[in-house]
Amino acid sequence: MRETTSFLRQNGISYRENYPVQAHTAYKVGGNAELAVFPASLPELRVLIGWCRSRKLPFFLIGGGANIIVSDDGLPGITIFTENLNQLKLQNGKIVAQCGASMETLALFAAEHGISGFEFLYDIPGSVGGALIMNAGNNDGEMKNVTCLVQAVTAANRIVSLTGRQCEFGYRTSRFKEDKLVVLQATFNASDRRPEKAIRAEMNRIKEERHRKFPMEFPNGGSVFKRPPGDYAGRLIEVSGCGGLRVGNAQVSTKHRGFIVNLGNATASDIRGLIALVQKQVKTSQGVALEREQIFLPEDTGQSNV
Ligand SMILES: Cc1cc2nc3c(=O)[nH]c(=O)nc-3n(C[C@H](O)[C@H](O)[C@H](O)COP(=O)(O)OP(=O)(O)OC[C@H]3O[C@@H](n4cnc5c(N)ncnc54)[C@H](O)[C@@H]3O)c2cc1C
Repeated sequence: MRETTSFLRQNGISYRENYPVQAHTAYKVGGNAELAVFPASLPELRVLIGWCRSRKLPFFLIGGGANIIVSDDGLPGITIFTENLNQLKLQNGKIVAQCGASMETLALFAAEHGISGFEFLYDIPGSVGGALIMNAGNNDGEMKNVTCLVQAVTAANRIVSLTGRQCEFGYRTSRFKEDKLVVLQATFNASDRRPEKAIRAEMNRIKEERHRKFPMEFPNGGSVFKRPPGDYAGRLIEVSGCGGLRVGNAQVSTKHRGFIVNLGNATASDIRGLIALVQKQVKTSQGVALEREQIFLPEDTGQSNV
């Protein structure tokens, strides 16, 4: 690790050792990152990934932290935070967004420029990178609909540009996830024009509707499980008698059964224990194996580890 910190110092890349990750996650749980790195530009991120790949150093990536449950024991090695890579611009009639830009700012940027198609993103927490990996979406749209081109770094440390089609978006999945690609930036379609007022009205409608349904009064990570074919995780959880079920200070939301909430001072192991309990109870009661949408770090090393 000393070699890496001296590399970071030499390249002027900001880092912190033994850094608390909790505040960077939607659930507000998890231990410390052994080495947290905060690249301030895409060239810094590129150099950093090159360093890790060439030395076969595993690393984790955290965007908005909206879809991860970091272990109470923390994250070993290098954790890269993309939050400072948040620039957005209009270029050749399209929107170009860096990987750490938030969904909310992307939706607001599109609205300000009278560009429609991004309204559905307004209330999805997290970053462009995280949203592309997961093909984030809801009833009103998904990333697949707006993505033209994504610049990413491959596991072999090459930069590639993938068209929307080449991203192989599926339900909460993409090629980035499968091929261990790191998203640098993305270009989005900006051809659907509407008056800003109408776009904002639609954004607010979607947000209000979601906030009526979601338990936003407690820290939560959105839907815990993927929707099983032909059914809803929330319905299965309800009929299996899991509504309100608790492990420590984690609880299956009484407002939206598909969510788990942190009632205050819950630990990652409370949440993970509750997820396992719900999966077991739903399997026993309904015969359905609920698949987790949320990512356990470090266990589900995902696309970011070499
Ligand atoms: C209240 C709430 C509501 C939600 N509603 C929705 C919803 O309606 N629809 C939906 O789809 N999701 C929803 N989510 C889940 C979450 O918002 C999305 O999955 C979001 O896309 C996660 O983005 P992130 O930047 O926070 O990713 P993180 O949680 O930081 O990371 C998720 C994964 O992406 C990887 N990653 C992050 N950045 C990059 C990058 N640049 N390159 C490669 N890999 C990267 C991480 O390593 C990790 O594996 C909700 C979450 C919350 C808390």
